[in-house]
Amino acid sequence: MATTEILKSWNYKALCENCGRHVMFRSVLGKLKGLSKEIDFIRECAIEDLHGFLDVEKQVRRESLVKFSFMIPVEERRAEYASVTHNRVVTTPEGAIPSREEARKLYGVEEAMGVMKREHASGLYGLLCSMDLAYTATSLSNPSEKLSEDDYKIRVKAAILGLMELLSGHFGAAQARALPIIKVTELICLASKTPVPNLVHGFYKDYAKESASMVKTAISRGLAKSGEIKVLVVGEGPVSAFKAEGVSFEEAKTFSEAIGGVLKMVEG
Ligand SMILES: [Zn+2]
Repeated sequence: MATTEILKSWNYKALCENCGRHVMFRSVLGKLKGLSKEIDFIRECAIEDLHGFLDVEKQVRRESLVKFSFMIPVEERRAEYASVTHNRVVTTPEGAIPSREEARKLYGVEEAMGVMKREHASGLYGLLCSMDLAYTATSLSNPSEKLSEDDYKIRVKAAILGLMELLSGHFGAAQARALPIIKVTELICLASKTPVPNLVHGFYKDYAKESASMVKTAISRGLAKSGEIKVLVVGEGPVSAFKAEGVSFEEAKTFSEAIGGVLKMVEG
C-alpha cells in the first residue's frame, strides 16, 4: 500500500486500477486488458511486478519479489494483550448527542453511539523481510524480457521506501481505531548485488549473532563479494554481534538512516 502511494506521488503511471485502489488480489489484467504474457502484466503495473500475481483465467503467474514473514513477539519476552472499548458517537448539526428518534431521523440508525471492543497487543516484536529487487522489471519466466532502466530504478526505490512507512507503523487494518505505538529498537539491513541467504528472523534471541555469522560465511564462501555488499545496523545488540564476527558494517542511529543507506547503494 505504501509503495503504491509513493509511486502515485511521483506521478508514475504504470499502476493498474485495482492496485491504485489497494485491491491487491490475484491479477485480473488478463481478463481486463487481454494480456497473456508475464512481461505485459508487469509493464502494466508495478505492483504486479513487486507483489507477484496469479491470473487464474490465463494461468499466468509471477512469484512475489518482496516477501514478509509474520511479525511475532520475540522469544525471550511475552507480549501483553488487552481488550480496549472504543466508542463512536454521532452528533446533531447543533453538536448534541441525538435521542433515539433524532438518530433515526437524521442518520437512519437506532443508536447514536457505536461501542466496539478490540484486542490490542503490546510487546517486542520481530520480523523478517526479503526483497529480490534484482528481478524488478524483469520477466521471471523469460529473463531476457525486461522493461526500461527507468522503470527498474523507480520501482526498486519505491519498494525500499515502502519499508520506511512500514517501520514507522504504517500498516495493519486497525489504524482507524488507533495508530500503532511503535519504535524500531534493532534493525539489520543487508543489501547485496549477488544473491545471499535470508537473515535470521528477529523472533530468535540470537538472531543478530546468527545473521552476522551467515553474512561472514557468505563472504568467505564467495556468495557475496565484500565490495558488493552493504550491512547497516541499528541498536547495540546487532552492532556488537557484527563486531564480534569481524564483518564490516555501518552503524545507523535510526531505521530511516539505515534505509537511506540502502537506497544510496541502489542509486550509486
Ligand atoms: Zn496492479
